[in-house]
Amino acid sequence: MVICDGLGDRPSIKNGNRTPLEAASAKTLSSLAREGSVGLLDPVAPGIRPGSDVSTMSLLGYDPYESYQGRGSLEALGSGLSLKTGDVAFRCNFSTADEKLKIVDRRAGRNDYRVKELAASVSKIRLPGIKIEFKATVSHRAVLILRGRKLSRKVSDVDPHEAGKPIPACNALEDSAPAKRTASLVNKFVRESYRVLKTHPSNLDRVKKGIPAANIVVPRGAGTLPKVETLNQTYGIRTACVGAVPLVRGVCRLAGMQLIDVPSATGGPDTDYLGKARAAVNALKQNDIVVLHYKAPDVLGHDGDFEGKRRAIERIDSAIGSAVDEIKRTELDCVIAVTGDHSTPVDVREHTADPVPLLIHGTGIPSSEVQRFDERNAARGNIGRIRGIYLTPMLMDLIGFSKQFGS
Ligand code: ZN
Ligand code: ZN
Repeated sequence: MVICDGLGDRPSIKNGNRTPLEAASAKTLSSLAREGSVGLLDPVAPGIRPGSDVSTMSLLGYDPYESYQGRGSLEALGSGLSLKTGDVAFRCNFSTADEKLKIVDRRAGRNDYRVKELAASVSKIRLPGIKIEFKATVSHRAVLILRGRKLSRKVSDVDPHEAGKPIPACNALEDSAPAKRTASLVNKFVRESYRVLKTHPSNLDRVKKGIPAANIVVPRGAGTLPKVETLNQTYGIRTACVGAVPLVRGVCRLAGMQLIDVPSATGGPDTDYLGKARAAVNALKQNDIVVLHYKAPDVLGHDGDFEGKRRAIERIDSAIGSAVDEIKRTELDCVIAVTGDHSTPVDVREHTADPVPLLIHGTGIPSSEVQRFDERNAARGNIGRIRGIYLTPMLMDLIGFSKQFGS
């Protein structure tokens, strides 16, 4: 299952009324689409503009309306931390604040110089009655876990959204003692982080080098561990994921997947497209489902970069081309599905509710006979239009792992 993050697009007026996928020379994807089946997929449901957290859950067969418990817990899982029932996890930014706790730079220059040392000091912060775990992840990002009794994820984000604004307080989002207690603990944590970090030697060194001080930690996206079965428990299969983005790794870990590291993968447009595809094919030898995730189309969609998104799709296409050759060479019998987790149109620069193209290729799968893999051809495809949550059950049926309903 190849997930191209933010793959879908709208015809771009400035670019000849085409989408980046229509403009791309995507030989492999088009030949898989022609030989296999194609259709449109609504990641969550028609008209729903999804975040990558709920849409990736949906593609793996989890109904986000039932199982989604906030983003922080998925980020924590994807960063290698373990979560217990009752823990509340947040994703955090190291930011730059002034003396009055107004934000100067939300992302502390997007610079991780000596951030590991800063994180080590933050992780020693003590809060009354609970334990904390804190880990720096990539760039200016980090994860915070609050562990203890009577905590709640129903608290607001500590996110000033733009520079020049004061850091807002964390507030309870429901009238309950756990939510109020959690909000007050988060506020203490934010104040303590500033106290610990403002005169930290690593920060003084950053400032000396002209890098913004990473002098405060702002948590958002409170989440708890979703109660779900792994794909292994549901279907009795072995699964793995090749992806570098912590959020996606977190969803895959929740599904019970083995996380495969490709050191040259970056989680961005400069990633090692081919290295990831090779790792995925390799993982197919020991697994029944392998998820291969590419973040680049989403990043470039948010940047409004039509040419960049087109080029990223071409690089994914050629990496999948090598994977297909290797699959043929080693005579692996496999079904290949390619889709997106949502649309990130370059003219909108945000996720939209547009459906994404889907192709499914393999033995016994009827041919769509479309000429290309793109939004317009997918709309005329033989799969029709399905919801994301049906994809994994459909693939399970095609590879012989679904259970019969009824007798
Ligand atoms: Zn996404
Ligand atoms: Zn996005």
